Amino acid sequence: MKDSALIIVDMLNDFIDGSMACLNAKEAVNAVSAFIDGKTSAESGDDDENGIFGQFPILFICDHHPADHCSFRENGGPWPVHCKTGTRGSAIHDKLTPYVSEELTFYKGCSPDEEQYSGWEGVNKAGQTVGEVLDLLDTEEVYVCGIATEYCVKATVMDLVRAGKKVTVIGDALGYVDKEGHLKALEEIRAAGIRII
Ligand SMILES: [Zn+2]
Repeated sequence: MKDSALIIVDMLNDFIDGSMACLNAKEAVNAVSAFIDGKTSAESGDDDENGIFGQFPILFICDHHPADHCSFRENGGPWPVHCKTGTRGSAIHDKLTPYVSEELTFYKGCSPDEEQYSGWEGVNKAGQTVGEVLDLLDTEEVYVCGIATEYCVKATVMDLVRAGKKVTVIGDALGYVDKEGHLKALEEIRAAGIRII
C-alpha cells in the first residue's frame, strides 16, 4: 500500500503563461516542486521512483481538447482556445516533466461534445481512470494541487471525497482565475470536510 499519492491538476502551459494564464500559476508550480522535493527526499534517494510503482506516485490530470471542442468560444463555449492536442499549450510545465509517467497521466475533455472539469473523469492511455489506478495502488489518501481552484481543482477534489478518499489540498500550489472566486472555492472545499494545508 502506498501511504499517499499526489494529483496535479492542469499544470499545463496554457493555464500558466498561455491563452488562459491564471493568477498564482507560476508560484503554484514552484510550490508543488518544493512539495515533491520534500516528500521524495524524505522517503528515498532512488531516482527511479516515479510511476505507478514509485514510493510517492504523482498523477497528472491534463485538459486535452480537439480543435472543435465545445468549451471554446468559437464553438459556442465560455473559454478561449486552450490545451489543444499537440500544442505547447497542452503540455505539462517543464519543471514537472521529470515526474511524468504515461500510466499516471490522465486526459480529460478529449471528446468534442463533452466538457470535463473533474480529473476524476480523466483516463490514461491504457483507458484506466484515476479511481482504478488509485485502487491498484491501494492508496486512500491523496494530496491535490493545480489550476484553477474554482473549476478543475474544486471539481476533482469533490469527486475524490465522494469516492471516499482522504483529500488534502496544497493551498500554496493553486492557480486561479480570480482571487475572489478562488477564496469562495476554498470555502466550499473546506465545507466539504477537505483539509487545506
Ligand atoms: Zn478545457
